[in-house]
Amino acid sequence: MSVLPPELAAKLVEAAREQYAEGSDDSIEIDDDAKFSMSEHDPAEAEPVMGCWVSAWVWVRADDCIECGETALLGESLCQGCLDHHKSRRDA
Ligand SMILES: [Zn+2]
Repeated sequence: MSVLPPELAAKLVEAAREQYAEGSDDSIEIDDDAKFSMSEHDPAEAEPVMGCWVSAWVWVRADDCIECGETALLGESLCQGCLDHHKSRRDA
């Protein structure tokens, strides 16, 4: 973990958003206070730094419903509609 000058940090966040978040259907988000890692960079070597890691959020959607193919509830194999359908049949 590196502490970067604020101007550079802001530039990197902006670049990360341009390179990844934009056009991602909001499935990739980068916080204003993202974390940075230059794990590949060895300060002992005088090689130029070509980039760095910027922390990001990625949206992970739930599975598809095994019955109708709609998006299931997180952690479930069925969607709300199919769950309700099963429940109403069971309660009948
Ligand atoms: Zn369903």
